[in-house]
Amino acid sequence: MALIVQKYGGTSVGTVARIKRVAKRLAMLKDRGDDLVVVVSAMGHTTDKLLDLAHKLNPLPAERDYDMLLSTGEQVSIALLSMALHAMGYKSIALTGAQAGIQTDSTHAKATITNINTRSLRKYLKEGNIVIVAGFQGVDKENQITTLGRGGSDTTAVALAAALKADWCAILTDVDGVYTCDPRMVPEAQKLDEISYDEMLELASLGAKVLHPRSVQVAKEYGVTLHVRSSFNMKPGTLVKEVKDLENIRIVSGVACDKDAAKVTLMAVPDKPGVAATIFSALGDAAINVDMIIQNINRGQTNDITFTVDESDLDKTVDAVKKLKKTLNFKGVVTDNNTAKVSIVGAGMFSHPGTAARMFRCLGDAGVNIQMISTSEIKVSCLIERKLAAKAVKALHKEFELEQS
Ligand code: ADP
Ligand code: ASP
Ligand code: MG
Repeated sequence: MALIVQKYGGTSVGTVARIKRVAKRLAMLKDRGDDLVVVVSAMGHTTDKLLDLAHKLNPLPAERDYDMLLSTGEQVSIALLSMALHAMGYKSIALTGAQAGIQTDSTHAKATITNINTRSLRKYLKEGNIVIVAGFQGVDKENQITTLGRGGSDTTAVALAAALKADWCAILTDVDGVYTCDPRMVPEAQKLDEISYDEMLELASLGAKVLHPRSVQVAKEYGVTLHVRSSFNMKPGTLVKEVKDLENIRIVSGVACDKDAAKVTLMAVPDKPGVAATIFSALGDAAINVDMIIQNINRGQTNDITFTVDESDLDKTVDAVKKLKKTLNFKGVVTDNNTAKVSIVGAGMFSHPGTAARMFRCLGDAGVNIQMISTSEIKVSCLIERKLAAKAVKALHKEFELEQS
């Protein structure tokens, strides 16, 4: 008898028929004698629809209201899944994040899970329930509802698997596993049988939304093996785990694309010690993640500082930097949300000099201009014009011979 955590994404619980299918899949595991904790996302595009509603009333909603609203989506699906299981004669209980003991910090809209009190979860499991937990949400010390960032239900599942010391954690989604690239962008992409935590973390952080980046971080930290697979068939998917087989390290394992990158330039910032610290501390305090950064030396005593943020943080970013205008005395702020970031990821590039140059040449040959570059030991990212993203991704996928043979 195993203790299994399974997570079903929005598409997998998008209709009544699909909820019934998920219930049948859970019933099969329960009949086998396994203990089950199931995390579900909001149905279909519910979260996007809730966001649209919010923005119709207020372009910059208060973060407490944002979390209050967005957390309702998952509450609908846990209740419906439990009803489906009861109708089939199975014992189950639906729990919100708070009821499941999921505590977070107070960073609304991007909260981090700080602790999981597993007492109730264990009690309900012992009573024979299939325990259904709302993904993407928790509660802070003041009992305020928080959400974990878009796609955060994956993190709920992995954190629960770690806290309960589950035998494994399955992420059931609408593709057969982790591919060398988003199969919706590149139909020739190949499914990977396994991938290391580090490579998966880079891919997820760089736009491969098949897993929430934080879920991979938690899995690595607590040694939780993830099985990413389809909820629509029983095919084996991709194992995300520690890969020690140095012989089989690929130079490039995958290509990722983030179409939501936005570029911000602060013009003519005085060239003085401490200026960058002031700017990026203010952004950090506003919980804005900054990605690529470039400082251009101008003639005279000023620099232009350009950086990228997620487009959903653009208004907040402009707001935060404008507040510094008087103190820092820079000339102005220019934004560009017509950009995308394309990246190659692979543990083997570390020992293969020339991989970055090969990427730049490939983009050049495809007529794609590179606006910014960032690198780590296992990835190279380029900021490019958004409308060229699909072309760039396809060219890179081909260049690094990732296509199905
Ligand atoms: P869920 O609702 O199940 O959480 P998501 O939409 O968040 O599903 O993630 C699954 C989607 O991730 C797929 O439909 C696919 O388009 C996209 N995706 C992006 N990059 C990859 C990749 N490298 N491998 C597999 N899927 C990817
Ligand atoms: N429903 C949330 C979202 O759409 C969380 C998730 O699906 O993981 O972002
Ligand atoms: Mg997801």
